[in-house]
Order: sequence, then C-alpha cells, then structure tokens
Amino acid sequence: DKADIGVTGLATMGRNLARNFAHHGYTVAVHNRTVSRTKEFMAEHGGEGAFLPADSIEEFVASLKRPRKAIIMVMAGSATDAVIEQLAAHMEPGDMIVDGGNAHFADTRRREAALRERGIHFVGTGISGGEEGALRGPSIMPGGSPEAYLELGPMLEDIAAKVDGTPCCVHVGPDGAGHFVKMVHNGIEYADMQLIAEAYDLLRQGLGATPAELAEIFREWNRGDLESYLIEITAEVLGHTDPATGSPFVDIVLDRAEQKGTGRWTVQSALDLGVPVTGIAEAVFARALSAHPEKRKAAATLAGPRGGRAAGGDTLVEDVRKALYASKIIAYAQGFDQIAAASREYGWDVNLGSLATIWRGGCIIRARFLDRIRAAYDADPSLPTLLVDPAFAEALADAQDAWRRVVSTAVTIGVPTPGFSSALAYYDALRRDRLPAALIQGMRDYFGAHTYRRVDREGAFHTDWSGDRAERPA
Ligand code: NDP
Repeated sequence: DKADIGVTGLATMGRNLARNFAHHGYTVAVHNRTVSRTKEFMAEHGGEGAFLPADSIEEFVASLKRPRKAIIMVMAGSATDAVIEQLAAHMEPGDMIVDGGNAHFADTRRREAALRERGIHFVGTGISGGEEGALRGPSIMPGGSPEAYLELGPMLEDIAAKVDGTPCCVHVGPDGAGHFVKMVHNGIEYADMQLIAEAYDLLRQGLGATPAELAEIFREWNRGDLESYLIEITAEVLGHTDPATGSPFVDIVLDRAEQKGTGRWTVQSALDLGVPVTGIAEAVFARALSAHPEKRKAAATLAGPRGGRAAGGDTLVEDVRKALYASKIIAYAQGFDQIAAASREYGWDVNLGSLATIWRGGCIIRARFLDRIRAAYDADPSLPTLLVDPAFAEALADAQDAWRRVVSTAVTIGVPTPGFSSALAYYDALRRDRLPAALIQGMRDYFGAHTYRRVDREGAFHTDWSGDRAERPA
C-alpha cells in the first residue's frame, strides 16, 4: 500500500517517466506543485498501473516505502533547490532524492554534498530520449553514491531502453558524474546535428538537389556506417512537405537555431578543463550566428565566389558521406576526452566504454557507431584518443582524401562548413610532429618573459630579448 518510487513534477518528462515505472509493475507516487496537473494525470493515465496521487509534498513523502526514493522532474534551476528542500524536510537518513532534470553538474555536486551531510543520498541523473524516451525507455545516466545505486539501479535499469538485452543505464560515477555525462551527450548531439546540417547544405547548394532528393540520400546513408536516430529523422524532416504551402517543410522554417544551454555548458566546461572540443564549440557558435538576423541582413550584400555549383555530382555525395563520418569520429573523440578529463579532475573513475553502451539506445545520439566506440575502449581502456584505435584510424585514413576534397569544395563555392573544417584541422593538428606552438612560446617569452622549454634540455628558459639576447635558465 506504499509506493516503490515517487515522481514529483508531472510535466512532459515526469508524467511519462511515472507511467514507464507503472508499466513495469511498480507502485508510483505522483505529485505536482499545481494539484490540477496531478488530477489531470490520474484522469488520463490512472488506469495504466498502480499510482498513489498526493496533493502535498508531505503526503507524497509519507506514501513512499523506506528507504524512500523520490524523483524530481521539474524545471532545472532554483525550482530544483526548492523541491529538494521540501522533500528533505520530510525525509530521513538513508532516503534517496533523484534529480532527473537537466541540472548543471556543479549544482549537482553542491546539492549532493549538502544532502550527504544530512544522511540523504542525492542522485543527479541524466535522462535522455525526450518525451517518447521517458515513456518507452530512455538512456539513463545516474551519478551519486554506489550505495544509492544498489537500491535504485535495478529499477532504473528496468525502465531504461534495452539494446541486445542490455539496459541503457549504468552508474556513471559519484556526485555530479551523471549530469556531467548527460551534458556532454547533449554537446555531442549539437555537434552531430551541425555536421548533418552542413552535409545537407553542401549537397543542396553544391548539387542543386531538392530536399526530397536529399531525404533519399540520407535514407540510404542510414543503411551504412552513419546509421543513427539523427540521420533517420533528418530524412523524415527533409522529406516532409508543408501542408499549408506545398513547399518543402525545411524551406518554410525560420533559419534561426535555438538552444537551451547544455551545449554552451559543455563548451564552458571544456574551456575550464583545457580540452579542445572544437566540434561542439563550432556547433554552439553556428547556432549563435544563425540567431543574429540584423548582422546577417547587413552582411547579405558582401562579396562571395562567382558561380556556385560543385564539380563531380555522384562523387560529391560519397565524399560528403565520408567527410561526415570522419568529422563525427572527431566530435565523439573530443567529447569522450572531455569526460575523461573531468573524471580525472573530480575523481569519478568513469568507464568510457560503458557510456558508449548506454548511448546505443534511448537517447538522441543513439547510433550503430557507438558499438565501435565500446569495442575501442574494451580493447584498450587507456586509449589516449579514440582516433588511434586501429578501426577508427583506418576509417579516418579511408575518409581523409574525400574529407579534404569536401572542405576545399565548400571553401570554393562559399558554403560554410565550420564543423567539417574544424574537425579536419583538429585531425591534422593532432597528427603533426611539430606545431607552430613553438613560435607562440617565443612570442610569449618576448613580450611577457613567460619563459619556454627546449627540445634538447630540461628546465625553463628566458631569452633577454631587449638586451643581448642571451639565454638564461628561468
Ligand atoms: P519543465 O521543464 O517544463 O518543468 C515543468 C514542471 O516543473 C512542472 O511540473 C512545474 O510544476 C514544475 N515546477 C516549476 N517550478 C517549480 C517550483 N518552483 N516548485 C515546484 N515545481 C515547479 O518540464 P519537462 O517535463 O519538460 O522537463 C522536466 C525536467 O527534465 C527539466 O529539468 C528538463 O530540463 C529535463 N529534461 C527534459 C527533456 C525534454 O525533452 N523535455 C529531456 C530530458 C530532460 P507546475 O505544474 O506547478 O508549474
């Protein structure tokens, strides 16, 4: 007569998560700040399983089996703090509060530490898959203590998506690890979408192909290495006709990309950690650029290249496919590097291969490709970069000629491809034996006496640039 788990916050995500638990045979307490939403929920879905509706937080907490497990699905930010306070006030040591919203991992670290002092487990949990995923099986990325995962894990694994029978849910690591990984997942999603958009733009401008023809190309690509949810929905969106005008849907949508913030957070964190996530950063900036209509309008008169078509029709399609795949490998390698860096910084001990496993289903970036990432980390858990895994190195070697042709074509016909171009620049920079960073060090020493290291001797050195140019150990 008590609930196995409770969900507070019955908007899009919370209601579907509650239903998902109920569909798996759990008794679910449900609560929402505005009581009418709870009533609506019961009227619409009360018959789908065992629900215990509660009008107040006190009643909600009282209806939970001990140790209590309550999931918060409210708008991320101050609302989460408010709800945590209300729940904790009625809870006891050993109880568990799960935050399934898109919290910033630093908030999750703070909340976890504060609740730990009070003996309450706080489990910041990334949940991906949107509305449909929450109902039918999301990808779940829980942080928090291993003790809390022992209790919660089996329930979360029950409701998660399954791929080849394996649940898309794993204990990512302590405190904010789950929300961090969800953030980078979203960052990778930004990069993936930007690369797909560039492929579309290049083929449309370069070949003069129609959206319907491009939908066919993406459908075809979805049968190979690129097979993924995002490629699948790209074909759907491109193939759609606007019922009101009869125009391709993609032509009647305002070309101003919005963002809710997780991509930006990923880049901010990467800057702090010193990890070059160029693919994600370019994607965030490309969205920002699209959102400046005044600048775009003013710049529309600027000179561009004469003549706009690319040479070599069918070759271009295959070249762009390879460039997209290679750039995608770079974006994922960078995202995994960022998680590895955060794991070292915060002592999380994240298993990178297991992340690839739980992103295979349920989430937005689900893709065949993630099996290969899993295999790469299985073969060598301490890979310095995914790029040197033999299978990825071979894929990049196979794609590089096409990739270079695509970037030159884009530059020649004036189609912006910041994702493709920066991915190629990253690839070329990483494999260089000498970088011009040496010159930068020289300039830094010249104007600021910042010192430099030598290739042939240990220690830091400074050259007396304004005097006799003699070198001294610093
Ligand atoms: P919203 O983010 O739209 O939040 C609405 C819910 O928050 C309502 O239940 C609302 O209650 C509640 N709420 C807002 N402020 C407060 C407060 N001060 N005290 C108590 N409750 C409050 O809902 P979504 O379902 O879209 O998302 C829930 C969480 O899941 C968010 O953190 C979101 O970032 C995350 N998420 C969303 C995804 C999606 O696809 N939508 C995907 C993955 C994660 P009331 O009815 O009383 O207003």
